Amino acid sequence: MKIVIANSIGIDKNRNYIIHSPSRWSEGVRNKYHWFAYYPWELAYLSSLLKERIKADICFLDGCLMRLDKQAYYNLILKEKPEILIMESSTRMIDENTELALDIKKIIGTKLIFVGQHASAFPDEMLEKGIDHLCIGEYEYTVLELIQGKALKDISGLFPNARRPLLDINSLPWPEDTDVSRFAYAMPGEPSSEYHEIQMYTSRGCPGGCNFCVARHIYYAQPNWRARNIKNVINEIIYLKDKYPRMQGVFFDEEAHNVKKEFIMELTQAIIDSGLDKLKFEAMCDLRFLSEEMLEAMKKAGYYKIRVGIETASEKVMDAVGKRIDIELMKKKLRFAKKIGIKTYGTFTFGAAGSDEKEDQKTIDLMRNLLKENILDNLQLSICTPQPGTPFYNYVKENNFLRNGLCYKDFDGGNIAAVSYHDYDYKKIESMKQKALVIRDHIFLESKIKNQNFMRWCVSVFRKHGILGFIAKAFNRFIGELKFQFKR
Ligand code: SF4
Repeated sequence: MKIVIANSIGIDKNRNYIIHSPSRWSEGVRNKYHWFAYYPWELAYLSSLLKERIKADICFLDGCLMRLDKQAYYNLILKEKPEILIMESSTRMIDENTELALDIKKIIGTKLIFVGQHASAFPDEMLEKGIDHLCIGEYEYTVLELIQGKALKDISGLFPNARRPLLDINSLPWPEDTDVSRFAYAMPGEPSSEYHEIQMYTSRGCPGGCNFCVARHIYYAQPNWRARNIKNVINEIIYLKDKYPRMQGVFFDEEAHNVKKEFIMELTQAIIDSGLDKLKFEAMCDLRFLSEEMLEAMKKAGYYKIRVGIETASEKVMDAVGKRIDIELMKKKLRFAKKIGIKTYGTFTFGAAGSDEKEDQKTIDLMRNLLKENILDNLQLSICTPQPGTPFYNYVKENNFLRNGLCYKDFDGGNIAAVSYHDYDYKKIESMKQKALVIRDHIFLESKIKNQNFMRWCVSVFRKHGILGFIAKAFNRFIGELKFQFKR
């Protein structure tokens, strides 16, 4: 039996490069120098699980990593002649991915299994379109049982059956590293990673409940946090380091790396005991659980950066989203991280539930203050996108806040506001994100010049993207600076 497991198409019909992350949010970028590939980790775990448990010819393909448009990806998949095709798509790319899969089915009768965010949100619609099976939520074992031939009515997680209980993450093998190289995702790599870092996962889940969060609400449907066995994590790092000598570090890119203090203390000690502390580590952390003790342990183990979700400065938005952060406490933690030499990276979002221009201006002011005080080194700005299947989506639908005339490709967290509130319309939301972007880039430029880091930045961009990439990025910065000067 031939099975193809395929990540999304990598270039959409408007020639945007797709940064695909269906359990978070996906976006399209026009400039290829702004593109990078996330390791499609849920699909990659599925691939290794199927390879371990069933006898079949299994092939893993990533149209995003290969930067393939629909036609090229169709040709590649068709060449494999799959009897079963498994795809995970975000709403952003669902139309094109569905068309591609149905075209393959039409030619060779392939059985189609769709998993992940959009499949979980609209299973009825996907069945009607001709997709054969929809796996809801955390899907690894659902797909395994389906392929093993278990009676459909007995497979939990298979639409329309009830959801499957959350899996034991220690039962999973290490994710796919044969048909795609995990190191390939570090080259060019997540743009905010400063080293060649392989994306890795020591835990799954989050005890929080942000109303826009796809992982929390669609994949897990409950608050949870599951940690991996530490010995197994260490062995995986050693395996990766041996296989990829050019690897410089690890990006722990799970939902919340630091939920339990004991876990961080044990993991960091195990990193030191195994001599892996020469590597550079960064991790997605949750400010609410972060402590000085944890930060000190991380620093000793080689962590050079933490990433945290700040999202908003507005208490009104925090309450509407369902994530309360004490801003003064947050600053204290960031200051401490910087004091001991750990860099900080924060995420901010605009147009979330409860927002308006005044509330989002507070977020811009906070962002500016954190940068000016030099307790935030880098940051990500997004437009809060009501991904179908989340409470935020239901809220905007029920209140008639979905922007008119949207199609699925518009569910793009980077560029397009899919929400238009009565007193804060989509154009204003997009302009607030743009304003934040221009201010951020201006402060970065100012600080690079002040700290004489400008030449270092030029060299690093040149090394990573070559001369054309350098010109494109420099031109972009120049235009950004003009906008800043023009707008102030
Ligand atoms: S803190 Fe992050 S992972 Fe947790 S629910 Fe909120 S967005 Fe999701």
